[in-house]
Amino acid sequence: MPPHRGWGAGPSRGLLLVLWALAAGSGCGDGSASAPTSAVESLLARARTEHFEVHAGLASDDTVAAIASGLEARYGRVVADLETGEVARIRVEVWKDEASFFAEMERYFGRRYNATGYVTGPSVIRVLAVPQVVRNATHEMSHAISLRVNPAFANQPRWLWESVALFENDELVDPRSLPYLVQGRFPTLSELDADPNASRQVYEVGYLIGEFMVARAGRDGLLRLIRANGDVASVGFASPAAFEAAWATFVRARYFGAAGLTLAEPLP
Ligand SMILES: [Zn+2]
Repeated sequence: MPPHRGWGAGPSRGLLLVLWALAAGSGCGDGSASAPTSAVESLLARARTEHFEVHAGLASDDTVAAIASGLEARYGRVVADLETGEVARIRVEVWKDEASFFAEMERYFGRRYNATGYVTGPSVIRVLAVPQVVRNATHEMSHAISLRVNPAFANQPRWLWESVALFENDELVDPRSLPYLVQGRFPTLSELDADPNASRQVYEVGYLIGEFMVARAGRDGLLRLIRANGDVASVGFASPAAFEAAWATFVRARYFGAAGLTLAEPLP
């Protein structure tokens, strides 16, 4: 496969890694992930379904089966929403041994991140078998498939990259449970782009951005925004500030209602 802008090898590779608990990265797009070299846990092909091939080592058969069925259950929605059509079979790599998972991450990226999953391109996702591994795997699958919409999308920009995956993976956090939203302090897109080690706020509100975009501009609008790497002009907004204001209005109306408008007034 020819190199694609955005996930080729190079010095930017590390910058494309994300996540606090759900990472995404960028790397070789040929789908042939290399085996761990310095890890004690070796991965073998354990399950093959219509759209996925799961490689794992110490993870139980039940875990492997749950990951495979969880991925298959969500696959259709994501490829339909993102209008990619069928994509090449995705390789899923599952580590149970944390040291082995992080050793391979460090080998791949050249440094270690505090993350339990990442993608190395549109056809490879990697996860650690934590209790929420099925949810993490479908999240990473959403990232991987979104690279079919725009090969240069990985963390460009991070607020949208995560919002798309969170929305496609139904990772809604009720805004009424987020004190800063209750108090009317909506983060800016720029704030949501913060380094993953500095802020995980995008994981709290990203679903709401995806939901807003689809409500406002339809799925086609969301796809335009992905292809434009988050340029809000592609969906008719004059500026990021205009987008942010419309998003806040949408969230207030949908989740807070009339009473919430009072609660949502910014504090003096
Ligand atoms: Zn993510």
